[in-house]
Amino acid sequence: MSTRPNHAEQKIFACENGQLLIANEPLHTLANRVGQTPFYAYERRAIDTRIAELRAALPASIQLHYAIKANPLPGVVRHIAKQIDGLDVASLGELQCALASDMQAQNISFAGPGKRAEELEAAVTAGILINLESRRELQILHDIAQRRGKRARVAVRVNPDYELKSSGMKMGGGPKPFGIDAEEVPAVLQEIGKLDLDFEGFHIFAGSQNLKAESIVEAQQLGYKLALQLATHAPSPVRSINLGGGFGIPYFAGEQALDLSPIATNLAQLTTALARELPDAHIVLELGRYIVGEAGIYVARILDRKVSRGTTFLVTDGGLHHHLAASGNFGQVIRKNYPVQVFPGRLRAGLDNNTTQSMSIVGPLCTPLDILADQIECPAWAEPGDLVVVFQSGAYGASASPQGFLSHPALHEYLL
Ligand SMILES: *Cc1c(COP(=O)(O)O)cnc(C)c1O
Repeated sequence: MSTRPNHAEQKIFACENGQLLIANEPLHTLANRVGQTPFYAYERRAIDTRIAELRAALPASIQLHYAIKANPLPGVVRHIAKQIDGLDVASLGELQCALASDMQAQNISFAGPGKRAEELEAAVTAGILINLESRRELQILHDIAQRRGKRARVAVRVNPDYELKSSGMKMGGGPKPFGIDAEEVPAVLQEIGKLDLDFEGFHIFAGSQNLKAESIVEAQQLGYKLALQLATHAPSPVRSINLGGGFGIPYFAGEQALDLSPIATNLAQLTTALARELPDAHIVLELGRYIVGEAGIYVARILDRKVSRGTTFLVTDGGLHHHLAASGNFGQVIRKNYPVQVFPGRLRAGLDNNTTQSMSIVGPLCTPLDILADQIECPAWAEPGDLVVVFQSGAYGASASPQGFLSHPALHEYLL
């Protein structure tokens, strides 16, 4: 029997006597203590370790931001805010979440196409940095300054004129709703100089879920070069160059963790060049998934075990309504399994973990899309009452899923 996993191996959480430990607590006692499944659990220690690793690897002058949309749970945001240099928000709701943390407004930035007038107004009131995505935003912010005498701090989000080769999600090059096309930026910078606005820098987004260090290095070099060219048109000294996020984590079979060292080496060169070429500026990295993705698990309980024409199905109380990405429906082209594992739901003596069997784990929704794991090796003892854990679930989980779909009970999230 093959025991080769058909997903990435999780390396964050330890196992003891066959039980997974989350913040030192066995999973089954945690599940009993919180009183209901399904739930997400995020471990503080795993987040802290990840941030410490980043800090140790990257040059000290790199400013590390957290992009809230990866995981907007207020406790998670407050916890991360204590340890990093800035927060990036993409809506008024996220702005309020960021302002409720310890992060100074000065270090909060706001990106996203289609910002509403009230969102821009709130951003100016708070004094955060606004990443401009269109000429319309320029005009609204100028009008606010005229009306209220309070100038907006702005950076230009640039849609680069190059395409990045191996990013998971293409967000630059070609026609895009994000940012302002690079070729139009010089004219926009000239306009900013004439309006009642405080110019601070550039934001050049580099994609998402990238596991190849060399392609992140390439994106950061190209982004830096582009910022340098555009800086010659800037109405005032460039203060910040935000090179985006996009550091990936391994989800699927054969994927390896991102190697930070080539990225760190390249950033050290870029920061040295920056000190010479744009002495008022610093480089910002804005990471979401990489900071929280591995620190979270999704836990569901098995409700039923049944066999259909030779395939064993474990039916759980959780599914795509809570975890769209694990079901393979969050932008994936080909469905692959997240790391998923079955653990006992209570103390069960003498379990044989060596005898496994191929099973499919599905949710309770009446749609064939509701798959948590397709044909994975599970312990043969798996039965109703046991727990299914989806690893690598700390980012783009609860808030990126259609929780209202089929009106099942509300989802819970815990920071432990
Ligand atoms: C989503 C987003 C990020 C974070 O992306 P990750 O892939 O989670 O690191 C950073 N910046 C902006 C503007 C974003 O929209």
